[in-house]
Amino acid sequence: ALHLDNITKSFGDNAILKGITLEAEAGEFIALVGPSGCGKSTLLRIVAGLEQATTGSVKAGGRELTVLPAAERNVAMVFQSYALYPHLTAGQNIAVPLAMRQLSRLGRTPLLGALAPGQKAIRKTIQNQVAEMARALKIEHLLDRKPGQMSGGQRQRVALARAMVRRPSLFLMDEPLSNLDANLRVHARGEIVDLHRRAGVPTLYVTHDQAEALSMADRVAVMIGGNLLQLASPEAIYEDPRHIEVARFLGQPR
Ligand code: ATP
Ligand code: MG
Repeated sequence: ALHLDNITKSFGDNAILKGITLEAEAGEFIALVGPSGCGKSTLLRIVAGLEQATTGSVKAGGRELTVLPAAERNVAMVFQSYALYPHLTAGQNIAVPLAMRQLSRLGRTPLLGALAPGQKAIRKTIQNQVAEMARALKIEHLLDRKPGQMSGGQRQRVALARAMVRRPSLFLMDEPLSNLDANLRVHARGEIVDLHRRAGVPTLYVTHDQAEALSMADRVAVMIGGNLLQLASPEAIYEDPRHIEVARFLGQPR
């Protein structure tokens, strides 16, 4: 399970997060929605370790994460831009987190150039894990292509594969579908929920798309102006908004 306890974040005098407390069960999918600038990405970046909270604690699986560097948190994050390595093939991209883990275990500098370690057994294991992940996401035919040779939807699947392959204990996604066209987006919703179910870990999923939040999430968290105003099932949020700001936000035509 994931516990966020009273997370605050200020940039200079600017209070961005004003005390976010949230618990997510092991297999729970939480959609985080709210107006642009309310602090959604900042919150995810803090959980991932890409940004430091001003105060508060993040616990996952009973471990305090705030004291751990990003690399040791075992958290997967997928961004809107996917951020694949442009000079590596899809297969190599998916192998990067596994190679990093192996190389740091071997006490070597985890440079990308060292992606193919001499140890045959390790290489084989990594190849098997990549193949298994590629099968699960139906991207076997893309493994030899570079990001520039793939469509947005294909890149999105490769980014998901790279995020999942380490078997993370927590899944964070920041508008991962917003670059896709409408058809692909609807199809990808189902894929992401399936992956989440199979992994059985808590997922925090930021989206601007209320249809996504409604159709994918177990619970929806509505954040406005740095406060978490309501956290409830999609039905409860829409049928019974507890704050005028929540009702206003949800009622906006978009
Ligand atoms: P969007 O829906 O547009 O992606 P968001 O809810 O993800 O918005 P954040 O990116 O978390 O919003 O930003 C929240 C606020 O914090 C914004 O006002 C932003 O300008 C500010 N902010 C974010 N990062 C920094 C930073 N490194 N330094 C100063 N201010 C920042
Ligand atoms: Mg954002």
